[in-house]
Amino acid sequence: MSINNKKRDDNRSFDELRPIKIEAGVLERADGSAYLEVGGNKILVAVYGPRESYIRRLLKPNTGVLRCKYNMAPFSVDDRKRPGTDRRSTEISKITAEALRPALLLENYPRSMVDVFIEVIEAEGGTRCAGITAASVALADAGIPMKDLVVACAAGKVNDEVVLDLSESEDKEGQADVPVAYMPSTGEITLLQSDGNLDREEFSKALDLAIEGCKTISEIQKEALISKYNE
Ligand code: UDP
Repeated sequence: MSINNKKRDDNRSFDELRPIKIEAGVLERADGSAYLEVGGNKILVAVYGPRESYIRRLLKPNTGVLRCKYNMAPFSVDDRKRPGTDRRSTEISKITAEALRPALLLENYPRSMVDVFIEVIEAEGGTRCAGITAASVALADAGIPMKDLVVACAAGKVNDEVVLDLSESEDKEGQADVPVAYMPSTGEITLLQSDGNLDREEFSKALDLAIEGCKTISEIQKEALISKYNE
């Protein structure tokens, strides 16, 4: 159902997600994996573990440790991105681990490591949310016990309207972006960022819209896992 009939640059209504597709278990050598497309984003996630790590200082005696690495391919954006880690990818790796960790029952795996590699092959706005959504499916595919699948989606403000799931042009030209990660079964929010200017009412509207988007995407995550394990 649309909030109203006004349309955006790509003809979506204000509360409409971009087309999204998720596939689980796409890599042979990873313990778990997922491929996700949303709008023009193409994202591949590989999960390894729980496994021993040669970096002993990172291990903990009473719980497993989650490490996430977000990487954008140099060819994933119009202006070639310099390869390697930068401030932005370091931040996104950190917030991704923080968004996913509350869902994982890592205390079952003391002195072990779970590694999540998020590779952005093509980017078109909202890659941090898409990466979290795909990583969660890949973690489930790896068989890691979880309280719930974490799902992420952003809302924001463009042309003075609160809208769902910003595209790259909306992200760049818009007034605000609010990425949210969410666990539908408990209602817990595991990531909430806000970039730009929103008043209290707009913020609350953006948060509600992002959560509705998360609920829709969560069904697509589940379908991806069901179709893999029904093969
Ligand atoms: N982007 C880009 N070059 C970069 C980083 C980002 O063109 O070096 C684009 C890309 O499409 C990305 C968007 O800008 O999805 C928005 O980036 P932001 O940092 O807001 O993170 P995201 O929305 O992807 O989570």
